[in-house]
Amino acid sequence: MREAMISATLRAFGQTAPGRPLEPLDLPDPGPLGETEVEIAVDHCSVCHSDVHLLDGDWGEVARPLVPGHEVVGRVLRAGPAATISEGAVVGLGWQAGACGVCAACRSEREHLCTGGKVRTCMGRQGGFAERVRADARFCFELPGGLDPATAAPLLCAGLTVFSPLERLGVRAGTRVGVVGVGGLGHLAVRFASALGASVVAFDPDASKRELALALGAGDLVDARAPLPRGVVDLLLVTTHAALDWNAWMGVLDLEGTLCLVGIPGAPLTLSADPLLDEQKRVTGSVIGSTKTMRRMLAFAAEHRIAPVVERMPLASANEAIGRVRDGRARMRVILDRAPR
Ligand SMILES: [Zn+2]
Ligand SMILES: [Zn+2]
Repeated sequence: MREAMISATLRAFGQTAPGRPLEPLDLPDPGPLGETEVEIAVDHCSVCHSDVHLLDGDWGEVARPLVPGHEVVGRVLRAGPAATISEGAVVGLGWQAGACGVCAACRSEREHLCTGGKVRTCMGRQGGFAERVRADARFCFELPGGLDPATAAPLLCAGLTVFSPLERLGVRAGTRVGVVGVGGLGHLAVRFASALGASVVAFDPDASKRELALALGAGDLVDARAPLPRGVVDLLLVTTHAALDWNAWMGVLDLEGTLCLVGIPGAPLTLSADPLLDEQKRVTGSVIGSTKTMRRMLAFAAEHRIAPVVERMPLASANEAIGRVRDGRARMRVILDRAPR
């Protein structure tokens, strides 16, 4: 009987050709649910900068119609017979929708680094700008009680993306963390680093973000265009997509400090070897996080009452939301809400 309640087509917002705006689409129902899959009724889906990259063709050609969206919160409508989440659960889904389960990364609890073929929520499959979305249940996460489902969506990609390196690189009480860029990723990085006990300096060219940065736990907001302070942080998390003067930013690190990229720089890095040798500094990067890290991040966010700063729009305003993210006008993340059922 339950099957009969789910319509034969699937309402979504997608892009049918490169450069075109999103439009409402009725997609064919994707057919039988996989053994370990769940189907989620989407309630909220926020816009990540990666959605804009996909739509703008920055990462090459992708299958179309392209239905973006990979910061999803919703309710499990149906679960495959071997799925590990039950119908009715309120879950989140991020950038990763599956993994091979057998490669060395998967066998060592680093599924996000799976080498057996990347399964991304909205690449080559339909994402969360839709009434329903599917994923392997192992990559759907029940939201802890302390998190508000209405604002949690950005945690699923942006939250994980910043929490994972903060944890992996050992941020703790007393660590000095610099966050470059106070936007969708950066504002959560400031909040998480501060909640981990770090002393945080935010860097952004927009002085109007000072009040927000301080409210999120930063001790200061420094003008990213002014001459940069030297030797003041142990970890610099770079959340912007801009091509920066990397040698100047390496100077912001104290001896043996680490610069970690989580945004995708618009050009190859040009970097002197001197700080890597004479000052033993490191450059690294980070991409989303493992399923265990996701669970720790969600629990930590619930415990510390970490809520993304969001503006909201109905799903029908998806083009406006994409435009705001593309132009850097979103404060700080845009959540698209599905019309009431
Ligand atoms: Zn993302
Ligand atoms: Zn794998």
